[in-house]
Amino acid sequence: MRVFGTDVKKLYGVGDVRASRYAAMGIKTVGDLLLHYPRGYEDRGNIKLLTEGDGLTKSAYLLTVATEPKSVRVKGRMTLTKFRAYDDSAVCDITFFNQEYLKATFTVGSTFRFYGKVEYKAGRYVMTSPAYEAWSEDAELPELIPVYPLTEGITGKQIAKDIRAALTLASVAEDAEDPLPEEIRRRNGLCLRSYAIRNIHAPKDFAALASAKKRLIFDEFFNFALGLTISGEKNRRSPAFPCAGGDVQPLLGVLPYKLTGAQSRVIEEIRADMARDMLMCRMVIGDVGSGKTVCAAAAILFAVQSGHQAALMVPTEILARQHYESLSEIFARLGLRAALLVGATPAAEKRRIYAALSSECEDRIDVVIGTHALLSAGVDFYSLGLAVVDEQHRFGVDQRAALARKNPMAHTLVMSATPIPRSLALALYGDLDISVIDEIPPGRQRVDTFAVDDSYRQRLNGFIRKQIESGGQVYVVCPSVDESSEEEQADLLMESVGTEGDLLCRLDDDRPRAPLKSAVKFSAELEEEFPEFKVDFLHGKLSSREKEKKMKAFVSGETHILVSTTVIEVGVNVPRASLMIVENAERFGLSQLHQLRGRVGRGERKSYCILVSEDINTEGSAKERLLTLKSSYDGYSIAEKDLAMRGPGDFLRNGARGSVRQSGGVKFRLAELCDDTGLMSLAFSEAKRLIGEDTDLSKHPALRGEVENMFSTDPAAVN
Ligand code: ADP
Ligand code: MG
Repeated sequence: MRVFGTDVKKLYGVGDVRASRYAAMGIKTVGDLLLHYPRGYEDRGNIKLLTEGDGLTKSAYLLTVATEPKSVRVKGRMTLTKFRAYDDSAVCDITFFNQEYLKATFTVGSTFRFYGKVEYKAGRYVMTSPAYEAWSEDAELPELIPVYPLTEGITGKQIAKDIRAALTLASVAEDAEDPLPEEIRRRNGLCLRSYAIRNIHAPKDFAALASAKKRLIFDEFFNFALGLTISGEKNRRSPAFPCAGGDVQPLLGVLPYKLTGAQSRVIEEIRADMARDMLMCRMVIGDVGSGKTVCAAAAILFAVQSGHQAALMVPTEILARQHYESLSEIFARLGLRAALLVGATPAAEKRRIYAALSSECEDRIDVVIGTHALLSAGVDFYSLGLAVVDEQHRFGVDQRAALARKNPMAHTLVMSATPIPRSLALALYGDLDISVIDEIPPGRQRVDTFAVDDSYRQRLNGFIRKQIESGGQVYVVCPSVDESSEEEQADLLMESVGTEGDLLCRLDDDRPRAPLKSAVKFSAELEEEFPEFKVDFLHGKLSSREKEKKMKAFVSGETHILVSTTVIEVGVNVPRASLMIVENAERFGLSQLHQLRGRVGRGERKSYCILVSEDINTEGSAKERLLTLKSSYDGYSIAEKDLAMRGPGDFLRNGARGSVRQSGGVKFRLAELCDDTGLMSLAFSEAKRLIGEDTDLSKHPALRGEVENMFSTDPAAVN
């Protein structure tokens, strides 16, 4: 479709100013503009009677103008333009602000399709600033009206108009080359791309919208899978330091426990990978507490046994220190020299470490454990054979790659504590080989879980007191930072648009929801309730230094109750933490709740997780989630259930509850809303098959272009 490459400025009505605003959104060409999909649709096909309006939701009404519009000036500058219109059921007062010119539009006797909220006030039906379209018997109005995401400087209306112009232009090229091979398209029952793009913006009807979405979502998964598979293939064919002499026996000799079957299997997979002279790109996925660290330790040992070094990078200083403390003893007994490198390491010590890493001297460091301080330019390895990244989801793709770049021949091992169904793991991490630890070490305690509503508050407070008085500590997780931050509003919007999986996004859902508990405010409330205890709060808007400080105070036992958003670190060990309370638990995904629960029960103390939610009193998916958690303790079965309930798209959404893949530069437009696991699997298996035939897509240049486009981080860098 050659018109896709046309400059947006060529569109009628798009001048320099609007073009530059589009450019700021990464939209330069007609094709870019057509990829700016609606965020939802207004259902204007379903016409209601005035008497059916509920005062809350917007609907379409077919009304005939009854009185001549009159304008009155109020409050100095504002003008109200008012008239009456009727349908078979009633009469309605309609008001517009500062649009006196509308008097000419609404002539008596003419009929319009209005779209808005009808309220019943003081005995009259009223509507304020509704959308309107002239109606006549023979000209059919579309049923579904797209609504575009609001952007700075360009109204949704302008975007809609420009997109209509783009569609007219694009129709010239209709049915031109479709990047998807015909055979794949037919096999999967997909419509043509041109049809899909037309109907995502101007759906003929619900069925057309559904097939448009299916095709476009398939494309996103397909292109994503192609990109991952290509880069995975490339990595796996890159040369690496072979670590052939790997022997795990010495490690087994110094461990105070026996490995689980799953750990042994994963370590063997790692050993076999590292023995080859091609790069290992492996991810170990294992539930919190499944014992991933020892797998990393084994990999580190293999690297050192072959005369190389290893680096272990974790997201925070606390975690780095905890890893260092628990591993350095084991390493010492194995004769490995380990060092800790974090931002706070004194400069002189840093210099010593830098020197000891880069040379083959007597006191050469074999393994360095640290934060992203490891990425600093001063860190130069004599021979880095292995880069391990723990809690990988906390790092951007770039940071992960940066560690491996310290030596292009170094194997990489990344670790994830998010148990995800295997099908999804294979899809989301197509560039990595996956090892799953699906077994928890024996003797682990079960965190008893309860779901309660607010009427339990007094008893809950009593329970908190009891826990702390007997030496325990308490986590409280809240869904929001402070009362009404804009980010959160945006998040909420996303949620109401996507997760129900319905085609028609509910754009104007004003139904009241339970108010969100905020970390800052709730922490103050608890402080009042428990003057004898130390209460603190933690959230993502604090500087990382502040976060570290507050977390340290909790780890050391100084803070009794830590109220936080979900930022609390997954891997951090606080053995005395015995109670996890989740407020507004209905707002969290299943896997996320399971993760939160995993932060207690790490020591000897009997531990509890209490989910507080009003939704336990209403049937629905929230209640189902909470009950699932009460009865299930296995991360994988929970993840399966979560996938079934949320759909795969939700797992892709950066920042959404429990998203797992930091997609690093990859922008999903529709796939994030997909609730069809089957469609995703189809796209991924088709991608694998195609790469099997055409490894670098050289026979499919149009597809290749799409993939490159998708994986380019900076939209401006494409051209
Ligand atoms: P995670 O997978 O969450 O990173 P860790 O590696 O931190 O888990 O292990 C959690 C705890 O379990 C640690 O205290 C560790 O010493 C212990 N552990 C690991 N493997 C075993 C095992 N096979 N048997 C008993 N305890 C184990
Ligand atoms: Mg860990």
